[in-house]
Amino acid sequence: MRNDFEARPVPPPVHGSVILLGPPGAGKGTQATRLSEVSGRIILSTGDLLRASVAADTELGRAAKGYMDAGELVPDGLILGLIEAHLSTLDTDQGILFDGFPRTIPQAEALTALCHIEMVLCIEVIDDAIVERIVGRRMDPQTGEIYHVIHKPPPVSIVGRLIQRRDDTEETVRTRLSTYHEQTAPLVDHFSSLGLLRCVDGGQNIDQVHVDLLAAMKEESR
Ligand code: AMP
Repeated sequence: MRNDFEARPVPPPVHGSVILLGPPGAGKGTQATRLSEVSGRIILSTGDLLRASVAADTELGRAAKGYMDAGELVPDGLILGLIEAHLSTLDTDQGILFDGFPRTIPQAEALTALCHIEMVLCIEVIDDAIVERIVGRRMDPQTGEIYHVIHKPPPVSIVGRLIQRRDDTEETVRTRLSTYHEQTAPLVDHFSSLGLLRCVDGGQNIDQVHVDLLAAMKEESR
C-alpha cells in the first residue's frame, strides 16, 4: 500500500529575517556572505543596492550620491522605497539577511511591518579599529574581493587595478561613525528590548567572528 505521508513532498523551511547590525567596517558584508553560504539566506545590502543605483545613474542613485559621499544617511523615504521594491523581487521563503538595513528607528519600525524579524546579530568593533580597517580597505573590481593594505595584502600582480571606495577616506569614516552612533546605535536598545539582539566581538579574526555568529544564530533557534 502507498504511504501517503512519505510520498508527500517536504515543504521548504520558512525562515524569518536576520539583521546584521554594527558600525561601518565591522565586517557585516564579509560575514553576510559567509552566513548566506551556510544558511541559504539571501543577502539584501542597501549599501550595495545604492552603489549600483549610483553606478547606473538612476534617479535614486543621483538623489543618494551626495549623502553617501558625505558619509551621511540617505533619507528614510528613499531607502524604504528601495527596500519595498527589492523585497518584492525576492523569494523571501529562503529568509533574508539584511546588511546595513535598518539604520534608523523609523526604518526598523517599517521593516517590522514588512516581515518577521527572527534575530538581530550585532558585530561590535571600537571606533579606532574601524578607522584603521576602512582607510586601508581596497576592492578588486574584477572579483569583488576585499583586501587590506596591511592585514590582507593583495597579490602584487593585481595592486594596480584595486580601487578604494569613494567614502573610505578618514574624514568620511569619522562622519559615518558619528552618524552610526547618533542614528543607528539606538537600534541596539530597540532590538534588545524586543529580545532579538545577540552581540559578538567583531574585533576578532574573520573566522572567529563567523563561528561566534553561527553560535548566536543557533542559540536563537533553540
Ligand atoms: P554601507 O555600504 O552599508 O556602509 O553603505 C554605504 C552608504 O550608503 C552609507 O554611508 C549611507 O550613506 C548609505 N546607506 C546604506 N544603507 C543605508 C540605510 N539603510 N539608510 C540610509 N543610508 C544608507
